[in-house]
Amino acid sequence: MFILDPFDEDMSGLLLIEVFLTALAAVMIAYQYVKYMPYFDTYISVTFGFLSFLFVWIMINLALTYVIPLTGHFVVILIGVVPVFLLVNNMRGRFLEDLLLKPPEKMATELEAITQCYAVYILTMSHSDPEDEIRLIGLINVHLKECQKPECPLTNPVELYDPCTDKHVSDGDVVNLHKNTVFLKHYAKMYFEAAISNFGNYPGVRIAYASFLFHAFRNVHAALNELSSAKKSKPNIMQSFEIYKFEYASPNRKKQK
Ligand SMILES: [Zn+2]
Repeated sequence: MFILDPFDEDMSGLLLIEVFLTALAAVMIAYQYVKYMPYFDTYISVTFGFLSFLFVWIMINLALTYVIPLTGHFVVILIGVVPVFLLVNNMRGRFLEDLLLKPPEKMATELEAITQCYAVYILTMSHSDPEDEIRLIGLINVHLKECQKPECPLTNPVELYDPCTDKHVSDGDVVNLHKNTVFLKHYAKMYFEAAISNFGNYPGVRIAYASFLFHAFRNVHAALNELSSAKKSKPNIMQSFEIYKFEYASPNRKKQK
């Protein structure tokens, strides 16, 4: 069997290049993860991040075998598996936490804005965990106290209406707004609207908003409007597919048939 031996002089140069290029690829994948983490789904996001960082960890060990003639690196790699997992999990959690605490108009990129919108939307929909509940209460209270914008729809929350369930905020719990479904939908909507006003030219933001309008408010008409704006903003192939999928499944289309 042909094996590249790092201490075989004829092969060492070749192996060095190979190790260097693979290590570079590993670092680039890990960097892409940090920059564009698929945050929405915890399981997919953490698994993907864990594998990319494990790749870096293995490459570091491989590079070390090249420098130090020692055995037992396999054990070292195995020992590193748990810390790598914890690192990725904590990093992702901290990033989401920071993003949730930032005001929606302070988002730096369209990806940050979309991530924040989804994170808030998910939090408003499922906050059975006591920690999430406290987080949500804190976010809502801070906004209601600090928001200075006269046009903010949340300034008079009791009047907010949800056509989907034909209910006003006042029909539910007005003291504990974090338990009021109508209020929570509008609270999440405020983030999407901020994303649209800052990054409305990005098809990804429009698609995210369309999906929100459809799922939270069952507002097919408004969702289709967002999609037609997305189509005008040069969507990439994945986004075009998402638009197509959405339009194909929309009830309006079925009616037209
Ligand atoms: Zn506000």
